[in-house]
Amino acid sequence: MKTLYEEIAASSRDATCCVSTSCRESAWKLSPLQGGAGGGSPLIEMEQIAKVFKTIAGEFVALKGINARFYRGEFVSVVGKSGSGKSTLVNMLTGIDHPTSGKVRVDGVEIHHMHESDMAAWRGLNLGVVFQFFQLLPTLTLLENILLPMDFTAKYPPEERDERAMELLKLVGLHELADKIPAELSGGQQQSAAIARALANDPPIIIADEPTGNLDSRTAATVFEFFAGLVQSGKTIIMVTHDPSLAQRTTRTILLKDGEIVEKTDLD
Ligand code: ADP
Ligand code: MG
Repeated sequence: MKTLYEEIAASSRDATCCVSTSCRESAWKLSPLQGGAGGGSPLIEMEQIAKVFKTIAGEFVALKGINARFYRGEFVSVVGKSGSGKSTLVNMLTGIDHPTSGKVRVDGVEIHHMHESDMAAWRGLNLGVVFQFFQLLPTLTLLENILLPMDFTAKYPPEERDERAMELLKLVGLHELADKIPAELSGGQQQSAAIARALANDPPIIIADEPTGNLDSRTAATVFEFFAGLVQSGKTIIMVTHDPSLAQRTTRTILLKDGEIVEKTDLD
């Protein structure tokens, strides 16, 4: 029997998403891997992304015309001081927030042109999102937290979901705690559960905003290794981090300063 890693690897090489009935537009399908990291056309393109927040003190420009490309199989870290625009940037990729101007294309699809409900369905199938403070639903068990995104997209038939959720919990070492609620777990365990939830619909892309920011260094290292394993199995990961030692170990780093990219390693 294939391990879940092998399954993830196999499905990441094929078109990884959109077998769901809720996925109505074929344009949402991501095309097969083209030659691994750096190969083929970009998976994600940000073109002249600007974000202006309106505050009582006036307008604040949080992103000043960001151009960036991310390729399949890359593990990209986004670094920069607090307030430099890292979260704002990744929120443009997840569709959690909208740019004031500019475009984000994921496999050729302009995500900010979608209606809100289509965007939610698209996100559910294509992106796994991991946050610093886990954001598990506090009243649900771990198992239920992982079932939720599966129920939302209906990518997997109902009779397969429990088993898949348990396999994901096993993958992150939490299967024996499936019936616990988040408050009964340590921070590291909660983040592991959040990662399992991010993988619920086997998305090709993982976006993580300081996923290790609230963990001790040993637990952070474990979470990082887990991400590295996912990249090896074909996922594309964009991770905001404060930790230079982790950033150093990713394929490529983007440094943000005052809403601008001031340094990139390799590619573009
Ligand atoms: P980082 O994640 O790098 O710490 P953020 O992207 O959260 O930075 O924020 C970038 C800048 O934009 C900060 O100065 C922050 O105060 C401002 N900002 C973020 N969100 C909002 C908002 N909703 N309204 C007003 N200003 C915001
Ligand atoms: Mg942030």
